[in-house]
Amino acid sequence: MARIVQKYGGSSVANVERIFNVARRVAQTASNGNEVAVVVSAMGDATDELLSLAEQITSFPPERELAMLLSTGEQISIALLTMALHKLGCEAISFTGAQAGVMTSGTHTNARICRFEAAKVLQALAAGKIAVVAGFQGVNAGGEIQTLGRGGSDTTAVALAAAIGADYCEIYTDVDGVYTVDPRVVPKARRLEEITYDEMLELASLGAKVLHPRAVECAKEHQVVIHVRSSFHEGKGTLVKEAASVEKGTVISGIACDEDQVKFALMGVPDQPGVAATIFSAVAEAGVNVDLIVQSIHRNGENDILFTVAKADFVKVQRVLEPLVRKIGAKELRHQSNVAKISVVGAGMIHHTGVAAGMFQALASAGINIEIISTSEIKISCLIAAKHLQKAAEAIHDYFQLS
Ligand code: ASP
Ligand code: MG
Repeated sequence: MARIVQKYGGSSVANVERIFNVARRVAQTASNGNEVAVVVSAMGDATDELLSLAEQITSFPPERELAMLLSTGEQISIALLTMALHKLGCEAISFTGAQAGVMTSGTHTNARICRFEAAKVLQALAAGKIAVVAGFQGVNAGGEIQTLGRGGSDTTAVALAAAIGADYCEIYTDVDGVYTVDPRVVPKARRLEEITYDEMLELASLGAKVLHPRAVECAKEHQVVIHVRSSFHEGKGTLVKEAASVEKGTVISGIACDEDQVKFALMGVPDQPGVAATIFSAVAEAGVNVDLIVQSIHRNGENDILFTVAKADFVKVQRVLEPLVRKIGAKELRHQSNVAKISVVGAGMIHHTGVAAGMFQALASAGINIEIISTSEIKISCLIAAKHLQKAAEAIHDYFQLS
């Protein structure tokens, strides 16, 4: 007997028929003698539809009310799934985030789980019931309903698995695992049997949207083994865990493609101490995350400073930088949005040389120019023209023989 957390995403519970499919899977797992807690997302595009309703009322909905609204999506799916389980003859009980003991803090629509007080869920399991928990939501110390940011149900599932000491956490989704690269971009992409937390964390934050980055962080912190699987067909999926049994000779595990980038360039910035600090403090104060940064080698006492941010932050950054250009004595401000970031990720890089050279070689052979380069211990990212993204992904995939 094992204690298992299963999480089903929005597309897996998009309609009544699919809810019954999920219920059958859950029931089967339970009848095999396992204790099962289930986390579900809102049905299909329910969260987007709720957001659009709010937008029709106001462009600036109060955060508290937005969290109140968005949390209703998951409340619908837990109730329906629990009814379906009853219909199949299973004992089951649903819990909102607050009832399940998901304690959160931070902003109302981008909260973090700070504690999981899982006593009620454990009681239900001990009584032989299936516990069905609403993903994506919790309650703060003041009793306010909060949501975890888009895709946050993954994080609920992993936090629940940690809190109840589950043997593993299965994430059922509409893809059948983690791939070497997005199969829609490179059809030759290969499913990975295993991947380490650190690699998955890099891939998740680089925009490979299989898992919520905070879910991977939480899994790493509590050593929860995540099993990513398809909810539509049987298959082995991908295990996310500490030390993946490194396949022989693999240095690179995956490639991430990110088109959600806009590049800003401050040209002719005086080469003085404090200038970069001024620029990036202003951007940070606007609540914007900066991604790639590069400063050119100075000539005539001047630098060019280039950086990228997510497209959604374009207006905010523009508003912050325009007045700054004069203040710091820069010559010109430019921006460009037809850029994309391509990254290779692999824990094997720590011990292997020549990975960066290989990546640049692959891009060069495909005739693709690199605008910005950034590296970490297990990742190399290049900013390129967006129109070359697919060609770049294919070239790098071939070069490292990832198929
Ligand atoms: N329903 C929420 C969303 O669409 C949370 C989730 O799906 O994980 O972002
Ligand atoms: Mg969703």
